[in-house]
Amino acid sequence: MEEKQVKRRRIVLVPVPAQGHVTPIMQLGKALHLKGFSIIVVQTQYNRVSSSKDFSDFHFLTIPGSLTDSDLKNLGALPFMLKLNQVCEASFKHCLSQLLQEQGDDDIACVIYDEYMYFSQSAAMEFQLPSTALSATAFVCRSVLSKVNAESFLIDMKDPETQDKVFPGLDPLRYKDLPTSAFGPLESILKLYSNAVNIRTASAVIINSASCLESSSLAWLQRELQVPVYPLGPLHIAASAPSSLIEEDRSCIEWLDKQKPSSVLYISLGSLALMQIKDMLEMAWGLSNSNQPFLWVIRPGSVAGSEWRESLPEEFNKLVSERGYIVKWAPQMEGLSHPAVGGFWSHCGWNSTLESIGEGVPMICRPFTGDQRVNARYLESVWRSGVQLEGELDKGTVESSVKRLTVDEEGADMRKRAIDLKEKLEASVRSGGSSSSSLEDFVNSLKMKNFM
Ligand code: UDP
Repeated sequence: MEEKQVKRRRIVLVPVPAQGHVTPIMQLGKALHLKGFSIIVVQTQYNRVSSSKDFSDFHFLTIPGSLTDSDLKNLGALPFMLKLNQVCEASFKHCLSQLLQEQGDDDIACVIYDEYMYFSQSAAMEFQLPSTALSATAFVCRSVLSKVNAESFLIDMKDPETQDKVFPGLDPLRYKDLPTSAFGPLESILKLYSNAVNIRTASAVIINSASCLESSSLAWLQRELQVPVYPLGPLHIAASAPSSLIEEDRSCIEWLDKQKPSSVLYISLGSLALMQIKDMLEMAWGLSNSNQPFLWVIRPGSVAGSEWRESLPEEFNKLVSERGYIVKWAPQMEGLSHPAVGGFWSHCGWNSTLESIGEGVPMICRPFTGDQRVNARYLESVWRSGVQLEGELDKGTVESSVKRLTVDEEGADMRKRAIDLKEKLEASVRSGGSSSSSLEDFVNSLKMKNFM
């Protein structure tokens, strides 16, 4: 008898072309593929995920005429995002209408877009469904900030005394923890936020978090957004989907294999953060004086005015050959789960934060911009599995915080709390756990709309 091929309903994903946004949306794609959907990834011309063997079942489309690498360099990150949303709207509509023509309009179950790709909304019409790659608390902050009076907020943000005060309604976040951006002026970031959090006719919001991490922020969103909010993370535990846009140097794993358990400090500032040479040198000497082994990811171009690591003094380079290892980009998840890694110096991007908590690794938090400050504040004062380095960086503070984390009793306590959170997160994505049930509810909501 001829076997009938069951056709999968399709889901269209629209990621922001940046590593920290691509990673969770591709993981979400994997999770939904496992639930029986076919996945289409619509990308811009800049920073595309390759259709590697890991995504051989996915379809990839490029929006014609979208901005490129040189546009990002010329415009800067914030104006780039605002312009990307303008130029992509019409071509994405065209892309979607072609997809619909191919197989009929009930074949696309939904469009899931990163909240910063809000141009997708008008095209997605009744299918629309935003996704956020960031945390619930960061979403709450962006919602609150999108409604502030820009002029008086600007005055408050410039006042050194206000900086340390708790922002009304966002306890424990202080003014200085709010997700303003190092990538452009406050007016532009507020404009981006008000576009991004305006979910208009979207039917739901997906959050890459779990209720055990951010229950009050999730409850706030549920109340304010008036559409279902699905906290179904951490997605990297729910569905692994390697989607590195940069080549990983795996030699560092062999180096880790030779180190003692829980002895190594892993250092990475993610895919976008920039640091000054002065700070890099303070870090280097602080690491040197701490006597702890370290694996340091120095992304080319991440140190202002340097190509890569050429500003590090010869004396420090000698030390690296004895007790350290430097790479341009690491397989981070593998590194964090390695038994030799005992701590993580991080810029506290949301993916890195989830990955570190998910492996029970305590953190030194040195946020750079945006929601990283929110995450750092939560790591230090809510989850208490991190210590934040504030103000000017100097080698003495670097040395003492590395020791606090890797040698002192305080670090051992942070590690216990991180391991406790790890266990809770693993339970939340297991069958019957809160995130796993949230994913089921989301999939069922698509079925209820007669979409499957
Ligand atoms: N990452 C990696 N190798 C590195 C540094 C980072 O694979 O050497 C990954 C990391 O695992 C995370 C992502 O890059 O998934 C960075 O995302 P995050 O939200 O932490 O920061 P962003 O890059 O957006 O600032």
